[in-house]
Amino acid sequence: MRVMSRPTSERRRPAGEFPFVIEHAARAGLIGHASKNLAFPFHAPILFRVLEVIVIMSIDTSGKWWVGTSPEDIKEYVEAYASQGSYAAHEFRLARCACGSVDFHLDADDNEGVARRTCTKCSRQHFLCDSEEFAGEAEYEHWRCECGSEATNIGVGFSLRKKGGEIRWLYVGCRCAHCGVLGCYANWKIDYAPSRHLFDRV
Ligand SMILES: [Zn+2]
Ligand SMILES: [Zn+2]
Repeated sequence: MRVMSRPTSERRRPAGEFPFVIEHAARAGLIGHASKNLAFPFHAPILFRVLEVIVIMSIDTSGKWWVGTSPEDIKEYVEAYASQGSYAAHEFRLARCACGSVDFHLDADDNEGVARRTCTKCSRQHFLCDSEEFAGEAEYEHWRCECGSEATNIGVGFSLRKKGGEIRWLYVGCRCAHCGVLGCYANWKIDYAPSRHLFDRV
């Protein structure tokens, strides 16, 4: 199967595609301190829907940052984060190492659309989704929680172009393995097909 892709020199965060609305997200409590990415599309009516969702979630949203009790909580966080913009998350996959561990070190370049996880148990490295194609240009930022932890659970939310269709955007969500704080560390565009094989490369 041949996968079309753009040249690595072309950045995957074209200027203007993502309106900058940091203050709205901060108000909704959706930007954790572990979030490097502070830009995403926003529509005011959707904020109210997000606030409704917050009420029924098991995630603790009472503090400054959202805190999840299990790795799976990343799904709800990413869905709420994505629903603030025009690219809602429809699919979610939790990252799990071949050894079974869900605790990783994470290095990412949000501009190039590259994220690499390293298992804290067996040191195995894996590039998330299509990251490896763009890894040559990457300037990594190492994920570290404010609590001092460098171990995080990782999950990817995928926005689809239509139901059952191709992926148009993906969000790399995190949950600190020590304190549970949730965040979105990177997100980028997918503009080729087929793309659904990326679900299995988280
Ligand atoms: Zn491992
Ligand atoms: Zn932490």
